[in-house]
Amino acid sequence: MSKKRGMLVLYTGSSGVGKGTIMKELLKRDPNIRLSVSNTTREPRKGEIDGVHYNFVTKEEFEKLIEADGYLEYAVYCDNYYGTPKKQVEDMLEQGFDVFLEIEVQGGLQVMKKYPDILSIFVLPPSLEILEKRLRERATEDNETIEKRLKEAEKEISFKDRYKYNVINDELEEAVNKILKILHTEENKRK
Ligand code: 5GP
Repeated sequence: MSKKRGMLVLYTGSSGVGKGTIMKELLKRDPNIRLSVSNTTREPRKGEIDGVHYNFVTKEEFEKLIEADGYLEYAVYCDNYYGTPKKQVEDMLEQGFDVFLEIEVQGGLQVMKKYPDILSIFVLPPSLEILEKRLRERATEDNETIEKRLKEAEKEISFKDRYKYNVINDELEEAVNKILKILHTEENKRK
């Protein structure tokens, strides 16, 4: 018997909100979830692996795929390109996996335009003060980049109501369970 097509999930949250940590847990707990690996022109952070966290590409390579219409969506965020390669997402959906697009708001809006009924989740920090604290504690960026990302975060949060679900990441376990429950609810609607 062939497997039912998977669900596409738009998953957005500002930098430092902890969406990566939530995602790791989701992948551990639900074997049917896959995360789409994006292309980016930003430099890898310490510990990031090419092909796992991102496909790290040059600006020329990125633009070549734009010209070939190879992106489901793409955006420039804090001076770098980020984009979702179409083919890998399509293949995983066909195989029956629920595919998460962990992307920022501009790309999120493009995806909503293409798929108006998409399951969309916006992860929020408990407050902007806490977000700033988390970003500083993470210490993966210099001060200027942190300031840029905080400004960006405020802008992004103003779009939260465009998403079907808002999940506050106050306590990791709670946020993970809430998202698993959302998936379950949406899955049942498709039956
Ligand atoms: P970071 O540099 O912190 O890894 O990512 C910066 C922002 O870009 C995050 O909000 C992340 O979710 C988003 N992002 C990652 N991949 C993509 C993508 O393929 N498309 C878009 N539009 N945003 C992405």
